[in-house]
Amino acid sequence: MNSAACDNPSKDGGSLGVSGDRSPGEGGREKTAYLTIDDGPTPSTGRKLDCLVARKIPAVLFCRGQAMEEDRAAVLDAIKRGFLIGNHSYDHPHFSDLTVEAACAQIRRTEAIIESLYAEAGVARPAKFFRFPYGDKGALTFNDVLAQPTAEGAARKAAIQACLRELGYSLPPLPGVTYPFWRDCLAREVDWYWTYDVREWALEATPPEPDLRTPADLWARMEIVDPARGFGLNSSGSDEVILTHDHAESDAIFEEIIARLQAKGLRFALPPF
Ligand SMILES: [Zn+2]
Repeated sequence: MNSAACDNPSKDGGSLGVSGDRSPGEGGREKTAYLTIDDGPTPSTGRKLDCLVARKIPAVLFCRGQAMEEDRAAVLDAIKRGFLIGNHSYDHPHFSDLTVEAACAQIRRTEAIIESLYAEAGVARPAKFFRFPYGDKGALTFNDVLAQPTAEGAARKAAIQACLRELGYSLPPLPGVTYPFWRDCLAREVDWYWTYDVREWALEATPPEPDLRTPADLWARMEIVDPARGFGLNSSGSDEVILTHDHAESDAIFEEIIARLQAKGLRFALPPF
C-alpha cells in the first residue's frame, strides 16, 4: 500500500482550508464518506492529521474531555487545521452505567472544554457533535444499539438526548445515508452513530475477536459486500459514516486504513452544518 503522500506533509503541517470539502447534497450520487476518529487526542494525533491533510481528507474528531485537558495543544492544532472537534464524553464511561445526571455532567464538562479550545484558537465553532463511548446511548441495551429498550431504558435515553439538544448538539441530515438502520433509527437521534466501524481496535481486544486478529482480517472485512448488514463500502447505494480510532495500538496501520478506504473511491467530506 503506497502511503508516500502521508510521509510528506507540508512544512507547517498544512490545513484543510476553511472547512474542508462539503457534502455534494442530493444531486450528486458519488458515494460520500464522513470520516470520524474517536478517542483522541493522543501523542500521535498530529501525525494522523498530517496524513489526512496530505490527502485532503476532512474529519470529525470525537475527543475525550480528559485527554483534551491533558493535551490542549494537540486539539488547538487540529482546530486550526480545519478539523471539527466533537464531544466524546469526559472520561469514556458506558452511559448505561451512569445516572442521567452523571451522563449529562459528562457531556457538559466536555462541552465547556471544547468551547474554551475554540475560543483560544480564535476559530468559530462550526457545529456541536456528540458520540457516545462504545455507542452506548444509555438505553440499557448495552452492545445492541438497535435493540428495543425497556421503558426504563427508553426514558433514560430520551433524557440524555434532551440534554444534548438543550446544549445545541445535532446530527445534521445526511440524505445520502440510506441504510434502513440509519434512516429509520439512528438518524432520528441527536448523537452520531456510524454505518461502518473499521474495528481496528479489535486487534488488541481482550478477549480477542476470533475473526479480527490481524490487519489482513480488517482488510478482508472491508471487501464484504452485504449492504443489508452495513457492509456497503463497495456498493454505491448509501453514503457512509466511518468510525476509526486515535489509538496507540493501531497507529501503525492508520495510514493504510485511510489509503484503503480512499482506494475504494469514497469521496470524503465534512457533514453539512
Ligand atoms: Zn471511544
